[in-house]
Amino acid sequence: MRQWRYAWLVVAFGIASAFAQSGPVQSSSIKTSGFSLVETLAVDATDAPRKVFHARLTIPAKPGDFVLFYPKWIPGEHAPLGPLANAAGIYFRSNGQDLKWRRDPVDLYAFHVDVPKGAISIDVALDYLSPVETQGDFSAGSSATEKLAVLSWNWLVFYPKGYSTDEIGVSASLKLPPDWQWGTALPHSAHAPGSIEFKLASLTTLVDSPVQMGQYLKKIPLQKGQGPAHELDIAADSAAALEISAQQTKAFENLVAEASALFGAHHYRDYHFLLTLSDHVAQFGLEHHESNDSRIGEGYLTDSAQWTLEAALLPHEFTHSWNGKYRRPAGLATPDYQAPTEGNLLWVYEGMTQYFGFVLSGRSGLQTPEDWREKMADIAMNFSHRPGRNWRPLEDTAVAAQTLYGTGEAFTNYRRCLDYYDEGALIWLEVDTIIRQKSGGTKSLDDFARLFFGGKNTPPEMKTYTFEDVVKTLHQVQPFDWRGFLTGRILKVARQAPLGGITDSGWMLVYTDQPNAIEKLREQQGNAFDLTASLELTIGKDGVVDDAIEGGVAAKSGVAPGMKIIAVNGRKYSKEFLLAAMRQSQQSHQPMQLLIENSEYYRTVSLNYFDGPRFPHLVRDMSKADILSDIIRPKVTTLPMPGPFAE
Ligand SMILES: [Zn+2]
Repeated sequence: MRQWRYAWLVVAFGIASAFAQSGPVQSSSIKTSGFSLVETLAVDATDAPRKVFHARLTIPAKPGDFVLFYPKWIPGEHAPLGPLANAAGIYFRSNGQDLKWRRDPVDLYAFHVDVPKGAISIDVALDYLSPVETQGDFSAGSSATEKLAVLSWNWLVFYPKGYSTDEIGVSASLKLPPDWQWGTALPHSAHAPGSIEFKLASLTTLVDSPVQMGQYLKKIPLQKGQGPAHELDIAADSAAALEISAQQTKAFENLVAEASALFGAHHYRDYHFLLTLSDHVAQFGLEHHESNDSRIGEGYLTDSAQWTLEAALLPHEFTHSWNGKYRRPAGLATPDYQAPTEGNLLWVYEGMTQYFGFVLSGRSGLQTPEDWREKMADIAMNFSHRPGRNWRPLEDTAVAAQTLYGTGEAFTNYRRCLDYYDEGALIWLEVDTIIRQKSGGTKSLDDFARLFFGGKNTPPEMKTYTFEDVVKTLHQVQPFDWRGFLTGRILKVARQAPLGGITDSGWMLVYTDQPNAIEKLREQQGNAFDLTASLELTIGKDGVVDDAIEGGVAAKSGVAPGMKIIAVNGRKYSKEFLLAAMRQSQQSHQPMQLLIENSEYYRTVSLNYFDGPRFPHLVRDMSKADILSDIIRPKVTTLPMPGPFAE
């Protein structure tokens, strides 16, 4: 087992603030304190509302052709998404003189700098141009508004070739826009209004510790009693969006308590949920060891639909502190940000995290049991209508993850997408159910969690894992042919979705004409009208087809993604008319007629579908024990009652 351990240092470390100096900081004045080299990084975020971030670095250097890397593979993003195109105004200097540089013609993330004789360090100036509005993916996505920003240090960092990111120390400082507050897991040594000096940290830790900042920022302590501090740091585009009810706070407190009970130990000094509420930044969650960078709409705390739909986001990202950061698949544990990662175990890294995220959303009360089951029914339906499962094993979606980001909705059913998340969750639900059944209810995947991710409380450290490690620990919890079971699930193609976790836990997937609660909320939020279980279509804004199940009712009639439904049975398209037409066909057994537009041509298609509206739900199978409800029942907390929005 390969291990990369962080060099945690407690050092009385005196370094003048780069802001306070009139000239460049010389590396000769810096004690390396156990690191192979130490960089200084001064970031000026006062232009954040303009979406421009300024940085000055001082990097120990050697004369000659000196190669600096710009981070390419950002941990947790599973793709080479380092936002190289947004780095601008790059100057390399020595003693105030501009140095010649050229980009490597093959590795575009490598910069060759001509360092003059006698120089022991170089200064680098660069700006980062944050994408406008909601463009871009993950931390490379839009990250700044008039009122807030989230700084990812990798935007503004170069580091020399030949060093792991653990070997490089960075002494960072940050200047904020006037009157902005900040939140981060990165320990600081000093701060004054508008500026922060951080303690010396490894480059690994720095890049793993984004800083959230904003005019409207609220910090809510979540821990109860002993143990590390847990803090919910919320930045929003308005003061009103920070209003959080006592029930909501209790649900987050429950999340911390239930996760602590689930894993049995923590591997962080303290933990920050960096929750950013804005409709103008990229929407995602990104895991870090001691924090998570989660960005949702401004109405998350005040709009029950957003609250319900995003219930599992923070539980998912929090779980990653254990699965992903503390324990990491060996192929994802790379020494620096240039080495490509191998994603073959993402169905564990993301799939099990997705499952525990769902479980913790239920145990904490962030999601009601009814909504929890509706969400699971929606997932079960989707993977039951996934012709891509006929040709593509689940593991291949993990191996090829970097090619699947940003592919959009069109043909997702046939191509498959990042299926290792939700199909992974179904598989881990099945594993949990098998353990509970075979052990007569005395063991569960919780026991695996404690063995695999728990141990002793430690500061951040990383231990890699392999497929064999997973199998071995599962066997330790409950003897079974786990290797055969898991390889069957991830390597074999199968038309049937893995729904054993639902059917064996006392529930059945059924379809009725009543809307699924989660799908309905998604529609209300402007997402697709989901007719996967009936016409085998999802329909987006203004009748444009998001996806049509390959080989399904609509696709066989000539409907495809990107086409627009203009009319249903001769009348202008609306969701209501389409549902009415489905009911009419059910009674009359006459095909419904759709007028569709495809690249400026119109065509009428007949849909031979006569089963009426069908939406997925889970219903109780009374012939079996209700294991599912036990899985999501609180273990050490009580649910916030009567509900988060009842104040
Ligand atoms: Zn994740």
